[in-house]
Amino acid sequence: MGNEIKSAYEIDETIYQRFEQKNNMIYRRTWDKSLDIYGKMFETNIQNHINSHKEGYSRLDFALVAAGWTIYEKFPYAFMWERKELVDIGYGINWMKNKYKIKDHSEFTSWIKKAAKFYGASLVGVADVNEKWIYKSGFVRPQLTSEADSKRNIREGKSMDSILETPINLPTGINKVIVMAIEMDEEAISTAPAQPAAAAAAIAYSKMAFVIACLGEFIRNLGYRAIQCGNDTALSIPLAIDAGLGALGRHGLLITPEYGPRVRICKVFTDLPLIVDKPNISFIRKIDNVCKSCNNCAEACETSAIPRDTEPNYNPKSISNNPGVKKYYIHAEKCFKFWIENSSDCGNCIAVCPFSKIKRYLKPQQFWK
Ligand code: SF4
Ligand code: SF4
Repeated sequence: MGNEIKSAYEIDETIYQRFEQKNNMIYRRTWDKSLDIYGKMFETNIQNHINSHKEGYSRLDFALVAAGWTIYEKFPYAFMWERKELVDIGYGINWMKNKYKIKDHSEFTSWIKKAAKFYGASLVGVADVNEKWIYKSGFVRPQLTSEADSKRNIREGKSMDSILETPINLPTGINKVIVMAIEMDEEAISTAPAQPAAAAAAIAYSKMAFVIACLGEFIRNLGYRAIQCGNDTALSIPLAIDAGLGALGRHGLLITPEYGPRVRICKVFTDLPLIVDKPNISFIRKIDNVCKSCNNCAEACETSAIPRDTEPNYNPKSISNNPGVKKYYIHAEKCFKFWIENSSDCGNCIAVCPFSKIKRYLKPQQFWK
């Protein structure tokens, strides 16, 4: 790592280990019987919410959320690691077989970023692969299988725990990562924790799947390799920080200068010889300072999942935190328990963060007007 990257974090190397993806709450709820919410998911309370006639929790709202996930969940090419065969879609295939000759790496990197934005990324940066951020183990989707199909057994609790424990190793030569942020709709997020905010997250996930699928194929059409990822394979936030996209906030989310934490992150690992970006150190320092005195997210969190610590520290709350990095450690169990009660993700901490730059806060019903 270069000096710039080193100063983006404080890491205790005697403690830090690569994260095991099964400890993410989305997966822990499927195997950790010590949790109140063991075996539960968003459907637990949906009918109660709909029957309550509470604003922002109608069948219309839940239909919007669930449909927003469509491309993420059902598109089998979303998270491809490689193209099994060249298929002629009318443009022929012979010209795709050799590596594109890259004359000017800097100019070529700008073209890759242009393509990422053209396909729909709001922000894009490039980093060297730092093995620290690659999951030690996790779930590897079968090729050409949609998210919904590949995780059906896990979600229904029918798979052995071990399916979540496949060692994650990137293929040799994959040493760069293109990290992209997708903006979430400002007005929808302003209604958090009501369902329009969850719909904003859902559609951002589907946009992620679309963007990485197109960018991955673009890279393969140039004769190089692409590994398309959402939240899988590696920790997205430190990769995004390495790629210069922003800083880590008290709420445990990436804060970008442009949209604050009002983004979702996706990434494409590649063997393209790209020029890497540097962490945005001045912005990281700014967020460090603001978060010390601003507690908006901690105050807004209905379940006290965000700590009010005066300083970042090395005190993880549970196995869902990855220890060894100096930061504010959130209570992932408390957060996810609220998600189950809320029948979706929440987003309160995103909505109140001043860096989200929300100009007008809507009541959930105003979202539909
Ligand atoms: S998503 Fe909601 S419950 Fe979770 S930390 Fe943020 S405000 Fe708290
Ligand atoms: S709401 Fe305030 S304390 Fe929380 S992440 Fe944003 S700036 Fe930091």
